[in-house]
Amino acid sequence: MLENLCMDEKAFKKAYKERELKAFKESLPMKEIDFLPLFDFLNSELPKNGCQHDFSLLESYCKEKGLDFSVLVEWLNEQGGFCDCEILANVEEQFEYLTKPTHKIKPKSTQTVQRKLDALTIDCGFSIKKVPVPWILVAISQGDKTNYQFQIGKKSDFPVILESDFPVDKLSDDIFLHNYWMAKTELDSELVFAIDRQCIHNFETVQIRTKRWSPIFVFAYRQGMKWCLVLRTETARIRNDVRELEKLLKEV
Ligand SMILES: [Zn+2]
Repeated sequence: MLENLCMDEKAFKKAYKERELKAFKESLPMKEIDFLPLFDFLNSELPKNGCQHDFSLLESYCKEKGLDFSVLVEWLNEQGGFCDCEILANVEEQFEYLTKPTHKIKPKSTQTVQRKLDALTIDCGFSIKKVPVPWILVAISQGDKTNYQFQIGKKSDFPVILESDFPVDKLSDDIFLHNYWMAKTELDSELVFAIDRQCIHNFETVQIRTKRWSPIFVFAYRQGMKWCLVLRTETARIRNDVRELEKLLKEV
């Protein structure tokens, strides 16, 4: 009896998978075989300058190959690919059925792997047991280096980066904050900074912004710690993002 049930389930799963694959193939905006050189291109180009969190590499590839960029982007978004690196993280694996297992094995140093985590404890002292909604925690590994960031949903334009080795004691120094902002933005002319400090839960936070230019950085830290959470956001989002950051800090 039990055996029968298992067989049925197996057959059911197989049929389901086949149906799913058929629907996937029908949804493709270009020939399936044309995706493979695109993945190869991204795998070789992305490690050079990292992802710009847009589709700039895809766009240049489409131009060169005469492919329809906007149709491709629309389809990629449906598959969970919202920037060049997410094409590899979220879309490439869906084409595994096309390739021999060896295709996935690439030199370790050039591979960017993105993983979703439910909890995290690392050497620098950072620990979170539960990631509050709407945040997701993502580990981004390249070679033997792993970075962690919190983001709201799959779009990662305004992440909270976990800096595991950060000079936290310098955050009380306004000049350090000015320099940090300028180093991250490469803007430096006639800037007027506003710096705002407040406590959220057990954390000190400092916010630095300029009158005219995005971004706004918010650092959350405690004195004596080695790590720091850095939110990068912009004027239109800051109130909402800080509210979400509060939820996050409560769990840390
Ligand atoms: Zn990206």
